[in-house]
Amino acid sequence: MQILKEKEALKKKVRALKNDQKSIGFVPTMGALHEGHLSLIKQALSTCDKVVVSIFVNPTQFENQDDLQKYPRTLDEDVEQIKKISEEVIVFSPPASEMYGDTVSSEEFSFDGLEHQMEGRFRQGHFNGVGTIVKRLFEMVEPDKAFFGEKDYQQLQIIKKLVEKHGLDVEVIGCPIFRETSGLARSSRNERLSPKERQTAAFIYEILQQVKEEFGTKSAKEISTWVTEKFKSQPSLVLEYFEIANADDLVSIQEEDKSKKYRAFIAAYSGDIRLIDNIALN
Ligand code: AMP
Repeated sequence: MQILKEKEALKKKVRALKNDQKSIGFVPTMGALHEGHLSLIKQALSTCDKVVVSIFVNPTQFENQDDLQKYPRTLDEDVEQIKKISEEVIVFSPPASEMYGDTVSSEEFSFDGLEHQMEGRFRQGHFNGVGTIVKRLFEMVEPDKAFFGEKDYQQLQIIKKLVEKHGLDVEVIGCPIFRETSGLARSSRNERLSPKERQTAAFIYEILQQVKEEFGTKSAKEISTWVTEKFKSQPSLVLEYFEIANADDLVSIQEEDKSKKYRAFIAAYSGDIRLIDNIALN
């Protein structure tokens, strides 16, 4: 398996693949890989000739320095996990200087308002950081297809918008959320939860499932009030936001329109660990 750290080496490899008419699948990650990431890699392997996985903890998308410092970094284990699936994957794991030079800062993006919803309200500058790194990676990897998890549904919509607005020649593919047996969405941050906290955190998905059941019979306002009350009964989880929003533009539901798709979104804290999840409602 090839592990590249320099962008020039990556670009050279990409040029060779393009010359050989190979299609390239790309899975950007921040490492600490789990089955959620691996499901994306498997999907990429099943539809592309060659797959590039980037492993880079992107500093500009962290608005909280403590979260950045505590973010797990497990490159050796990550490589072992990928090897078990395929020895053919190219891993790109650059130091920050390869991606940012001397100035670690974000470019400014407009994502037509998507960036102001939900995560954008609570994570200042987060999506400028995401846009900056993904655009640079796309320019280096030149993928035919790029795979993103619905776990970060808002990010997925934002990447589609990035591609549209910048005329990038890549197909963005959304992949289903991979869950633990308890229903908790897999996340690198779950590793920082104690066994008890991890068990309790399954509450988030239980609530989302109940919201799905109630959607269509109760109003969004009634459902929101119910969710807020339910979280009060679970003091070890602190609700940051609950929203039912249009699945395309992520605008909070006004009045249900049967012809539109909606999703419910939750962000909640277990101690200082922030967890997000979402579910399709119709
Ligand atoms: P991250 O390493 O957290 O930046 O995630 C890298 C990619 O994996 C993103 O596209 C995520 O949405 C995706 N991902 C993370 N967790 C999951 C999961 N539980 N199921 C599916 N995709 C996931």
